This record gives sequence, structure tokens and C-alpha cells, in this order.
Amino acid sequence: MAAPKTLSNPEWTGHSVICIGCEYSLAGLVAPGICPECSTPFDKDQVLLHGVIYSHGGSPARRFAWLTYLAFTVPYVWFGWAMVIPFAGLWGSLIGFGVVVAWGAVLLITNPRDRKGTQRFVIGRSGIATLPGTAQTDTTTLHASLIPWDAVASIQLQRISSNWKRLRVRPSARGSHIRHRLIAGFRCGDEDAVRIQQMIDELSHQQRTVEA
Ligand SMILES: [Zn+2]
Repeated sequence: MAAPKTLSNPEWTGHSVICIGCEYSLAGLVAPGICPECSTPFDKDQVLLHGVIYSHGGSPARRFAWLTYLAFTVPYVWFGWAMVIPFAGLWGSLIGFGVVVAWGAVLLITNPRDRKGTQRFVIGRSGIATLPGTAQTDTTTLHASLIPWDAVASIQLQRISSNWKRLRVRPSARGSHIRHRLIAGFRCGDEDAVRIQQMIDELSHQQRTVEA
């Protein structure tokens, strides 16, 4: 996958710029410290990656609901509607289609927010957070999803191309009850990947691996 040209390269600074708990701007605050808005701790170092989410695993119940839906609708749309006509008539068959549409709509509406487009991945002392690609001006739409380090079994950087890397975060047993599986692609040159891996290791205090 080619790196989208519009994405920025990874950023790291000697100070945290964004709270990974609530996206509050930490500019000008002395590190280490506590976010004045949500009390999430922050440290001097913070890594900011720009990329896209490949997969943000749904809950087992949610996957089961979709599988059940597909198990019913695929046969119905394919041939089931015709088999129903002798018993329920044309209107009965049409009502079946209505059920398919309504059922699908309910699943889509209740689906966890699908974060499309580019994302920012902010890695700090507390964990890794996914934020919208650009800062939101309307604070009611802010959405931060912090994955604390104690809910992470492993975090790996994998090389996809010279300027595109994959980030794979696997949940620990402690984190498995929440949607913590995260696979993302982000823009990153080879020379930056080594440094980013080092910083992730330092921030998470855990042994990580790089797959070249
Ligand atoms: Zn905060």
C-alpha cells in the first residue's frame, strides 16, 4: 500500500502536545504532569503517527450478530425470496426484503463508530490513543480511545514499504473484554522506524519486536 501523500511523517517532541485521554492541548504545560481536563498522566515524550486504521475488532457478540444476519440474508436474497412466494405470496416475499433492509439498518446504526479516513495515533506513557486525523473544532465530536499499556500484550511495527509501516496492537487477557485489537498503517520512513520502536519500548516499558 502506498503512503497517502497527504499524511505527515511521524512526529515526536520533547514535550507532550496532546492529551491521549481527551485530546486537550498540552502545549505550554510542564512535563511530567496530569491533564487538567481529564487527569490522564503525560510525560515529556510523545510519538504522533499519522495513518489509517485497518481493523478495529468488534466484540464477539457484534460479530455473531453480523454472521447471523448474513446467514439469513444471503440465501434469502439469492433464492429464498422465490421459495417464500408459494407460501406467503408476493407481498410476503417483499416483507422479507423489508426485514432484510430493516435488520441491516439496525446493525449499521448500532455499530460502533466506524472511524474512517486518516487517524492520528498518539503514543505516550499512559498508552496509545487513536484520534481523528485533524483536530476537531467542535469539542462535542472529540473522540479519544486510549488503550492503556496494561491492556496491551504486544505492539509491533512491521515494514510494509520504505515509507509505510504497520502497527499491530494485540490485547492482553486483561484487555480482551474491550475492543483493543488495533491494526493500523502509518506513514513512516525506514530511518524513523527504528527511533519510533525505541520510543515505544521506552514508553511502554515492555519488550517489543520489530519485524523487518
Ligand atoms: Zn485529558
